[in-house]
Amino acid sequence: MESINKALGNVTKRQDFKARYEKEKRQVLQDPDVREFIKEHTPYITQELIDRNLIKLYEFVSQSKRCESCQSLSDCKNLIKGYYPSLLFDGKNIDLLYDICPSKQKDDELRKHRSLIKSIYVPKEILDVKLTDIEIDEPSRFDIIRHIQELVKKYGDEDQPKALFIHGSFGVGKTYILGAIANELADIDVSSMLVYVPEFLREMKNSINDQSIDKKLDAVKKVPVLMLDDIGAESMSSWIRDEVLGTILQHRMLENLPTFFTSNFNFDQLLHHLTYSQRGEAEEVKARRILERIKYLAKPVELKGQNRRA
Ligand code: ADP
Ligand code: MG
Repeated sequence: MESINKALGNVTKRQDFKARYEKEKRQVLQDPDVREFIKEHTPYITQELIDRNLIKLYEFVSQSKRCESCQSLSDCKNLIKGYYPSLLFDGKNIDLLYDICPSKQKDDELRKHRSLIKSIYVPKEILDVKLTDIEIDEPSRFDIIRHIQELVKKYGDEDQPKALFIHGSFGVGKTYILGAIANELADIDVSSMLVYVPEFLREMKNSINDQSIDKKLDAVKKVPVLMLDDIGAESMSSWIRDEVLGTILQHRMLENLPTFFTSNFNFDQLLHHLTYSQRGEAEEVKARRILERIKYLAKPVELKGQNRRA
């Protein structure tokens, strides 16, 4: 706004002020939106009122209003980025009102959406996937989509369905579906966290003696919706299994917090993986305890199809 006052200020200092003033005024009065506005409020908008508000009218004319045609917020040329002006007449005075433009609105929504999905080590492009992007090339995908829609509908209700344990071979689109679920939940303002299990557990192992471990563990324990991607692909140790994984699952089970899993393994194969830790000792009871928690939290579904990475 200052630049406009300055622009008009400079004008007043000139010798040919009168001529320039008239020219600006003509320009303003020729603007189709201004003409429409004056016509709408005939006969209340007088010449005197127009003269008195010429700066506002000038500002209105100089700002872009057809924001639908602009590609993105970064293209915005207006004084206040993301806002466009409209003229208002309250019966006495002319005022300028600034409204948020469609691009800024979309941008704000996207930002909010993104802030709801926390991701640890998960590719960013997955975070833009929508449930409607998923091609239904075979029945298991359809069942999964139906289950997710049901869960979103009943989220937080007493009869909220379990989360899913999506298993299937490499590249069938398990992680992709998690991205779509996270977006679907963000639409209803539910925050989720996608965690790539092998990296996460490695990081936990490396920060055993570090202050940050409790904080990280706490965040994963308490996030409204947790998605543990690729469980079974990690190198498992007894400590990781019992103190990290076990603690997280125990908490989420007690608090009834939705927890999704993806894995290359089905339950039997995962049990085997959890039983034989790195040192090769068999610890079946402890492994079963973990698997029971997973079963409590999530319903197993097998995702079939071709390897989309090939
Ligand atoms: P997985 O986690 O089962 O190994 P991904 O989810 O990483 O598989 O998917 C493998 C590749 O296929 C990724 O590049 C992903 O973007 C793509 N993809 C997966 N599912 C779909 C789908 N339904 N439509 C289009 N692309 C997909
Ligand atoms: Mg994956």
